Amino acid sequence: MDRENRKLLQAIQKGEEQILIYGMGKFQQDVEYIFDELAVEAYLIDQCPIEGHCDRPVFTLDAWNPGTTKAKIVLICDFDAEEVRQELLAKGISDAHIIVADELFLLLDDELDPVLAARGRKLAVLTDCNKGSEVSKTCGLDALLVRTPEALMLECVEVGSVKLKDYYFIVATREFEHGICVLEDLGLKVNEDFMDSDILLMPKFSEMLHETVYAQPEDQPCDCDLPFFNLIIGNNFWPFPCCPAGVQGKWADRERLYYRTWTQLWNSTWFKIFRLSMLNKTYCFCNHHFCNRLQVKAGTTDKRVHFETSEKPRHLQLEIDYTCNLHCPSCRPGPRAATLERRRLLDAIVKDAIENHVLDDLKLTRLAGYGDVFASKYYQKLLYGNKKRQDLFLITNGNLFTEDKFDRLLPCYENIDIYISIDAACEDTYNKLRPGGSWHKLMQNLEMLARKKREGKIRFFRIQMVVQEDNYKEIPDFVRLGEKLGVSDCYMNNLRQWGHMSIDEFERKNILNPDYTVKDKVKKYMEDSYVVSRPEGFVRFDFMK
Ligand code: SF4
Ligand code: SF4
Repeated sequence: MDRENRKLLQAIQKGEEQILIYGMGKFQQDVEYIFDELAVEAYLIDQCPIEGHCDRPVFTLDAWNPGTTKAKIVLICDFDAEEVRQELLAKGISDAHIIVADELFLLLDDELDPVLAARGRKLAVLTDCNKGSEVSKTCGLDALLVRTPEALMLECVEVGSVKLKDYYFIVATREFEHGICVLEDLGLKVNEDFMDSDILLMPKFSEMLHETVYAQPEDQPCDCDLPFFNLIIGNNFWPFPCCPAGVQGKWADRERLYYRTWTQLWNSTWFKIFRLSMLNKTYCFCNHHFCNRLQVKAGTTDKRVHFETSEKPRHLQLEIDYTCNLHCPSCRPGPRAATLERRRLLDAIVKDAIENHVLDDLKLTRLAGYGDVFASKYYQKLLYGNKKRQDLFLITNGNLFTEDKFDRLLPCYENIDIYISIDAACEDTYNKLRPGGSWHKLMQNLEMLARKKREGKIRFFRIQMVVQEDNYKEIPDFVRLGEKLGVSDCYMNNLRQWGHMSIDEFERKNILNPDYTVKDKVKKYMEDSYVVSRPEGFVRFDFMK
């Protein structure tokens, strides 16, 4: 894209240059959703009459007299752009005044372009692992690889003569928080002086937009509005509009919270394009095999849906602090608490959330998918707000969930749903599968919660168990425990491989066969006469890939 062309495209994008759009339909609607500042004077169409109301003039190409419209630029929003270009040229429109929408798409890539961000500075990759060379190769950068900023000074330039401000850094350290802290300690600023390597590894926004604009809309049984109000922030600070497994890995957003504020993430180009794929019903970034809203094979449609994006997320799920008082082998190889560097980032993230009232009007607060809420001061700061929120979905191992902590929730939420993960029905198994926890304390806290449930202070109360080799025989006793406590249901799911277990260990503990059916020895306990005679819905097995 040459400079003049870029200037013109930028003027079109910002609505500073009036345009005519050639094309009416999916392509044009998709373009106008993403580029919502376009100054459109009128639409041009081919010979086919269009149905429906339009608040701007519409001309067929034959009937259009270029002298009667003020706009000189025609933006082609049509799947056969070349044919349209020829028609416009034949009509006497200058080639310089014909823009194909795909050219506009390229402008979206500017915000993640390290060369533009560097503003004339040299690019350097900060790395402590082989991710650094991968990044420099993938991005085709003439990058300088360094292990630490000190090494940069020693190896690459004369000692003492280097000015860090001469470089723009791409952080490719094994632990992302490590790289951020190293550079911040040297006085460099996030985004202004360095960016995250992971965003360079995601597809460009122009590719993402191209994918959904050119994809065929699917006639799915129901529409999905989740990305318009739901936000999940995962353990690595990456945002998701629904369960991370719902988004196809290739297309997942890599713009971390911390590099972006909450508001920036929510209104980011990635989210906007993802939402477009719901509106135009192409669902092309969704994992059809995982999502239970989508059929893998669906017919086509010419329908579109309309959803408004809420000003702030209305449902928020956070998994940002892995700190836990337990170290269950099903989850992690040993005790783990946030490092000093991670804590520094969490401090900033929580401060931003509180100052910007991100959680104030939440309909659903969901804490925490990873780590334990009561072992993390950050989760607790987010849990107890000043303004009453609607629903709480709280998952915890229950060991630190004492009555005073429960009572502090009462003024903060209209409805409280509690999910306690236990993984055992007796002390010995508990000690084995939940190291760091105390069966005695857990029982005390469960009895307290059972009382709160009886008093009507808890709307939904679940105990849950990851069924595995060491506890499957306790399925009936686990259900008995639930009944004694008066829980709403007893939920059991299968062990998952998060990469922290060896293949052998996982195979030994896994209760599913290679074809994902349940092993016969486990079925025997699932079909125990006491278990199957519980009221419908009281016992839930959720075994999946
Ligand atoms: S994966 Fe499913 S739930 Fe997630 S956004 Fe797509 S359609 Fe919605
Ligand atoms: S209690 Fe939960 S978060 Fe903590 S180690 Fe166990 S499974 Fe992981």
